[in-house]
Amino acid sequence: MSLEWQTRIPDSARTWAESITTPAVAVALRDCATLFPSRSYRDVAAGELLRDASPSLVSGFGRDAGWRSSRESGYHQVGGSGLRRIVGIIVSVLVIAGLAAGVYGCSLALQWLQRQEGLNAALDQRPEQPVAFSSLDRYSREVAGKAWFRRYFTTMVFSRDANDVEYHAPVVAKWERPRVAIKLLNDGGPGVEKYLRGLVRRLDRMQDEVRFVVGDDAPRITVRFLAHDEYVASQGQGTVGNTRTRYYKTSPGIISARITIDAGQPGATGQVKATLIHELTHAIGCNGHFSAPDDRRRSVLYASSSLVAWSQSDAAVIRVLYSPWVRTGMGAAEARRALRGYARSGG
Ligand SMILES: [Zn+2]
Repeated sequence: MSLEWQTRIPDSARTWAESITTPAVAVALRDCATLFPSRSYRDVAAGELLRDASPSLVSGFGRDAGWRSSRESGYHQVGGSGLRRIVGIIVSVLVIAGLAAGVYGCSLALQWLQRQEGLNAALDQRPEQPVAFSSLDRYSREVAGKAWFRRYFTTMVFSRDANDVEYHAPVVAKWERPRVAIKLLNDGGPGVEKYLRGLVRRLDRMQDEVRFVVGDDAPRITVRFLAHDEYVASQGQGTVGNTRTRYYKTSPGIISARITIDAGQPGATGQVKATLIHELTHAIGCNGHFSAPDDRRRSVLYASSSLVAWSQSDAAVIRVLYSPWVRTGMGAAEARRALRGYARSGG
């Protein structure tokens, strides 16, 4: 796969670079690998598939990471805590049922265990701290002053390799156009377009700088779904999605992004949604991945995330990234200083 990209990308990037006068166009390829279609996060091997896609073409280049997901969930962030309480009650009931089953026999107990597994899989798709828009502004200002969030921000925005050393994309690159249209080039399966529209509405509520829309009119971000076999044939084994971004290291930042997603086997809508939110987050300028287990349910950019919604921390990163405090071309140290300024400024 790397070889394929090595032969294909430099040519197109060079053509692109030559077609415009500004010299510093970079292409980033973020390739997100998977152990799909495994059944739960516990099946994800400890060693994630961290591969270097291909170094050094025009300048910045991409990465690769373990990335998979499990099942669809009916989770929506509004009312998420209510749903969590209900799930909590269901879990309690199941615990009692399980104890009773233990008295009556093994078969009932086994049934209960199976149900528990299903619940855990559904829980895997929910961030620990879903977005609460009413408090996002306050939350973002509050956390921007904290060291853990500045680390979270730089991990999410800057791409790093497996040893946590910064590499291919050492600067911020974000969209600077007032309007960015996202187009689905084909059908991603039941409910996927509706899901994307929901994501885009949330993006627009998280930040004020760029209005993201779903539409055909001069799309800047495209999303293509490929049948599993077709995806493997064209993108190689071991991934479920990748995002190729063209950007300047100075203004105007990102100028186009192409997302390709493995539509997987029929019925794998949850997988497709988790891949879509992960790749879309790359496409708006978040280049990194998280690998610590604690971040598994905290970020859609966890290397093998199954989340289908942004967490409060993810949303805060997006909000601060798309604020006047953070600009295309900033390095990590500069971005951390900007975050301190953001915290002091009151947003
Ligand atoms: Zn990724």
